[in-house]
Amino acid sequence: MAEQKLMYINGEWVKAENGETIEILNPATGESVGVVSYGDGRDAAKAVAAAAEAFAGWSKLTARERSKYLYNMYELVRNHRDELAGIISAEMGKPVREAKGEVLGAADNFMWYAEEAKRIYGDTIPSSVPNKRIMVIRQPVGVVAAITPWNFPVNMIARKLAPALAAGCTVVLKPAESTPLSAIRLFELFEQAGFPKGVVNLVIGKPESVGQEFIDNPKVRKIAFTGSTRVGKLLMEGAAKHVKRVSLELGGHAPFIVFDDANLDAAVEGLFESKYRNSGQMCICTNRLYVHEAVLDAFTNKLVERLKKAKVGDGRNKDTEIGPLVNERALNKVLDHIDDAKAKGGRIVCGGHRLTEGDYSKGFFIEPTVIVDVTQEMKICHEETFGPVVPIIPFKDEASVVAMANDSNYGLAAYVYTENNSRCFRMAESLEYGIVGINDGAPTQTQAPFGGFKESGIGREGGYYAMEGFLEIKFVSFGI
Ligand code: ADP
Repeated sequence: MAEQKLMYINGEWVKAENGETIEILNPATGESVGVVSYGDGRDAAKAVAAAAEAFAGWSKLTARERSKYLYNMYELVRNHRDELAGIISAEMGKPVREAKGEVLGAADNFMWYAEEAKRIYGDTIPSSVPNKRIMVIRQPVGVVAAITPWNFPVNMIARKLAPALAAGCTVVLKPAESTPLSAIRLFELFEQAGFPKGVVNLVIGKPESVGQEFIDNPKVRKIAFTGSTRVGKLLMEGAAKHVKRVSLELGGHAPFIVFDDANLDAAVEGLFESKYRNSGQMCICTNRLYVHEAVLDAFTNKLVERLKKAKVGDGRNKDTEIGPLVNERALNKVLDHIDDAKAKGGRIVCGGHRLTEGDYSKGFFIEPTVIVDVTQEMKICHEETFGPVVPIIPFKDEASVVAMANDSNYGLAAYVYTENNSRCFRMAESLEYGIVGINDGAPTQTQAPFGGFKESGIGREGGYYAMEGFLEIKFVSFGI
C-alpha cells in the first residue's frame, strides 16, 4: 500500500487521531492514486486551537508583510501548475487542459489578494458634535473554517484562503474527501511559502464530525463553505448558535436562453463551455436550455453536431474534452435524471447512455446528452443534475422566458444569447441571478463577484467583494 499522506496542523504533518485512512481512486480507471489520513472532529479541534493561537501574530503583521507571503504562494502555485493539474486530473477526472486553467486561476487569486491585503481602508466621518471624531476601521473576523468541494479542488481553496489570509484571519481547511491529494500538495506549498505555524491548517476527515466541531467551537468565528444547498443550510443553522459569520456558495440551476436573433454558433460554443466543461459538474453549469421556437431546430442540430465531435475520455489524455464523472453516486444521479425524463415523455436526441466499452469500462463515463419534449415535472427541470446532460425547452417571447427562468429556488448563474442591445440590458436586470453571462458562457474572473441569490448562497467570493466576508467593521468614537 502507498505511503499514507498526512494532515497539516500547527506547522506539522500529522496522522489522524483515530488512525484511520481513506484510499483515493481515479474515476477514469478505478486505480488507486493515494492513501490519506482520515480523521474527525478531534483533529479539527487541534487545528482550531492552533489557528486561534496563531491569530494574534498573523493579524498584527503589517498588510505588506501578509502580502509577501501571499505573493510567494502565487509564484509557487504558478510554478507547480503542471504538477497540481496532474494531481487534480488523477483524483477527480478533470481534463488536464482544464485543470491547468484551474491552477492558474488559483495562482491569480493569491496574486490578487496579495494586492488587496494592502487596501483594507477605513473611513473618517464628520461628526454631528464639535467635541467628537468618528473613525471606522476594518479588522479580521478571527479564525475561519473553510469547507471546499471536489469539483475545483485547488481553486476553491485559493478563493477562500487567499482573501481570508489577506484580511488577517487564520484558517482551518477541510477539503472534500474525494480530492485531498491536491489540497495536501497545496499545503506543502504553503509551508514552502513560509507561512508561520498555525496560520493555515489542513484537516481531512469525516464531514459531519469535522463540520460539527466547526459549528460548536466558539473559537471559529466564520464558516466559509462551497457545496450543496443541503449542507449549506445545516451549517447556517448550526452557525446561528454562536451567531458565526457564514459565506455560502451553494447549488445552482442555471437557465441558458437563446433568442431568435442570437449568433447560433457562438451560442453553441457558449453552451458547450457552460454545460460540458468539468463534465457538467459546476454550480454555474447550465441546467435548463431555453431556445426561441424560431431557431429551435437550427440550434438543436448545431448543438448535436458539436457534441458528436466532443472527445470523452481519461482527463489525463491531451485531447480529452469531457472527462468521467467524479464517482458512481454522481453517475447514478445523472442516469436517474435521464431515465426519469424518458419515463415522463422526454426524447433523447443525442447521447443518453453510460459508456462501457473498452477503456471506458473502468470509469464513470457518460455520453454528452440532449433531451427534448421536456416538461416541468421532470427532475432535470428543477434538480441540479451535475452531469453532461441538458434539456431543451422552447419559448415564444421574452416575458414568458424570463418567468420560466426565474421560476427556481436557485439564483446563481444565468446565460443569455442575443444580438439585441436593449434586450441585453433588460435581461441582465430582470434575471434573479447573482451572475449573468450575456453572450458569455464562462463568466468567472478573479476580480468579479461570484455568488448567488435565493438558495444559491450568501456573500460573494472574488475581487474586493470577498474581503468584506472576512472583515468586521469597527466604529471608534473619539471624545476630544
Ligand atoms: P457534493 O454533493 O457536491 O459532494 P457536499 O455539500 O456534500 O456536496 O460536499 C461539499 C463539502 O461539504 C465537502 O467538503 C464535504 O465533505 C462537506 N460536507 C458534507 N457534509 C457535511 C456536513 N454535514 N458538515 C460539514 N461539511 C460537510
